[in-house]
This record gives sequence, C-alpha cells and structure tokens, in this order.
Amino acid sequence: MRYSQSFINTRRDDPKDETATNARLLIRGGFIDKLMAGSYTFLPLGWRVYQKIEQIVREEMNAVGSGEILMPLLHPRDVWNETGRWADPNVKQIMYQFKSVDEKEYGLSFTHEEIFLDVVRKNSLSYKNLPIKLYHFSTKFRNEPRAKSGLLRGREFIMKDLYSLHATQDDLDKFYWEVKDAYLRVFDRVGLKDVKVVEASGGVFTSGHTHEFQLVSPVGEDNIYFCDKCDWAQNKEIYTHKIGEACPKCGGQVEEASSIEVGNIFRFGTVYSEKMGINFKDSDGKDNPPYLGSYGIGMSRLVGVLAEVFNDEAGMKWPKSVAPFLIHLTFLGGAKDEAEKLYKSLAQKNMDVLWDDREESAGVKLSDADLIGIPYRVIVSDKTLAKDSVEIKERGSDKVEMVKLDELSSWLERLE
Ligand code: ATP
Ligand code: MG
Repeated sequence: MRYSQSFINTRRDDPKDETATNARLLIRGGFIDKLMAGSYTFLPLGWRVYQKIEQIVREEMNAVGSGEILMPLLHPRDVWNETGRWADPNVKQIMYQFKSVDEKEYGLSFTHEEIFLDVVRKNSLSYKNLPIKLYHFSTKFRNEPRAKSGLLRGREFIMKDLYSLHATQDDLDKFYWEVKDAYLRVFDRVGLKDVKVVEASGGVFTSGHTHEFQLVSPVGEDNIYFCDKCDWAQNKEIYTHKIGEACPKCGGQVEEASSIEVGNIFRFGTVYSEKMGINFKDSDGKDNPPYLGSYGIGMSRLVGVLAEVFNDEAGMKWPKSVAPFLIHLTFLGGAKDEAEKLYKSLAQKNMDVLWDDREESAGVKLSDADLIGIPYRVIVSDKTLAKDSVEIKERGSDKVEMVKLDELSSWLERLE
C-alpha cells in the first residue's frame, strides 16, 4: 500500500488526554483515533493489525469445529427478561438500556448468551444435532466506569465470543478443554508466549471454576497468584491459601502479580437453557435442557496489550504475525523511481509492503518508520543503488544488511 494514500497520520507528541501507554503509542503511530473515553476508531494501520489477529483467531476457532456467524447488537428487552438479566442490578450497571420513540425497550449487546440460545431454539434439538458451536467477532457495549486504559478497557470494544451447546456435561467439559488449548495457540501465535491459564470463580452460575487467560503486566487491573515452577495459577479473588504458602500442586514458590485478562472460558451448565425453556430430545426421546459453554477473547483489548508489550522509546515493535505490514519500503534522496519499481514488483508478488512514497526528509521518514514499528525497513538510496542493493534493518536491531536488488524478493519471501 502507498503511504501517501493510506490516511496514515503520525504525531511527534503524546496526546494530552491519554495516560495509558497503548493509547499514546497507537495514537502517535496513526493506528487509532479517540472519539471519547473508552471509544476509538481503528484507522487503516490499526485495522490491519486487528484483522491479522482476527484471522489467527478465526483459524483456531474453525480448527475446533465451530462456525462463524454474526449476531445483532440491538436487542429487544423481552429476550433478556427470559433469563432475568435485564433487571439484574449488576447487569444494569453495565448494559446500555433505553426506550426508543416507539416506546419499546432495547439494550445494546454486552454479551450474547441469550441471543445465541434464541437462534438455536428455533430448530428442533436432539442429541443427534448436538453439540452446536458458533462464534462471532462483534462489538460489545459496556458502561465501564474506569475507561482510562485505552484499548484495554473500552465502553465499546470488539470481542470474539464462542457459544457451545451440548447434550451432556462430559461433552461440554471435553470441548471446554479443547477451547482452552485453542486459546493458548492464539495467544502464542500473536506473540504472547506467557499467557497463564488462571482459575477463577464461576460466579453465581456455575459451581465449578472458570478459567481466565491472564498476561502478567504492570498495567493489569487483575491480580493473580501463580507458581514459579508449574502451571498452577489462581485469581486473587478466589485464592484461599496464605501468602507465602507453597504451590498446592508442586510445592514450588507462589508469586503474586498484576495481570491483564485477554480471554476467559465459562461452563454455564443448564441454567440458561432452563430459564429460556430450551430442551433437546435425548436418545430415549425424553426432553432435557442442554449444557451451555461461553468463551470470550478481548479482540480490541489484544491490540492494546500488544502495544503495551512490544514497544521501545521510538515507537511500536510489532511481532511479524500481527504487524500491519511485514515490510516498510522507503527511499532517500533521488532514488524514488527505483524504489517505486521495486514496490511494484513486490506488490505483484503479493508481498505485504507499505511503500513510503512521500517526499519528506530522511529524519521524518525514518522516525515515522520507527513509530509505526513494521518488522523490516527496506531503504533504497543513491548510496545503496550504487551497489545495486537495498539496505534492510530489522526494527529494534542495530544491524543493517545490504541485499542485492535481484535477490531481494527471495530474501523477503523467507520472512513470510
Ligand atoms: P474484565 O474483568 O476485564 O472486565 P470481564 O470478566 O468483564 O473482563 P468478559 O465479560 O468475560 O470479561 O469478556 C470476555 C473478554 O473480553 C475478556 O476476557 C476481556 O479480554 C475482554 N473485555 C472485557 N471487557 C472489556 C472492555 N471493557 N474493553 C475491552 N475488552 C474487554
Ligand atoms: Mg468486566
């Protein structure tokens, strides 16, 4: 893509009304724009990062056999009355509820369990067509009182939510652990190698534990205890041991840290099916309520988390798998025509290139490249052309490599 046509607007200075690192860096790099607290536009660069993450999540969700759908965001009150959640004081704290000019009451989606169940109940359900597993990427609205953390806590944000319906608790359990593994693959693939699976309270709806996916971070709003040797971890909210006690699983040392929740998985059992009067026919022809699972990933939050983790003083340092582009091609001095030719030949090979075709000073172009944080910067200049070469530098490294023009595309292909 051509820089000059891509609505990329970087800034030298930090925005005055943001304290969160992710928001400051993402606004300066031209990734997002703030409408109000907790509400952001994804600009072309930011949306490309989002879409790369989305594709990774989609691949992993499809791999566990779930199908992609898209559910509405505007919900009638009636369906929320069925589970009693419309009037629940905790729900009223976060759900935007209003009366329209037609005097009817609506709510904006903050989660989709009721809507998913409403979709599936219109079909006759039997043990033969269970399990059902459907997911979508969509906006959630929540009246969050503390929307000061940039993309980490939006009042409007994007979630991937997956819902599953099963004939037995065993079948739900089996799928639940498959989703856990799929989530760990997602976080690993986007560059977060140390996301912990943390036991958390199931709240009022399940007697068992739920699991949260937590990344240790100084800016996290959660607190977790975890073992320094094994995979044991618990949210502080349910931690029942004494500080300083050994790990209950392996005897290792337990540490405490603040962390960011990037996803979670719930087993609701039959409670929502019962409230909404949903049954399936078992193999004896008897009616039974099916078991519901619900699994979320904070998609837009992940963009913010990556910004918190992958940066330095000069700007972003995106992992290859989610970078807006793999290659940042730029020219210096009188080398524009040669660089343009190079861009065209790389574009023809479908390579993931941002071509900085602007007539700006070297200082501006190189500091923009650092701010945007694309993994490989390729410079074409009079100096490099004298050697029939380009100069390649990896973001964050000091090493510069000269690569011959006719070897460039095979050099770059090895990166993909
Ligand atoms: P939190 O404790 O951070 O408020 P939650 O328990 O309310 O999260 P869920 O309702 O289970 O979260 O939502 C699923 C995922 O969506 C969370 O794991 C988190 O990554 C993300 N998420 C939740 N609230 C927000 C928000 N306000 N802004 C951005 N992402 C969010
Ligand atoms: Mg919340």
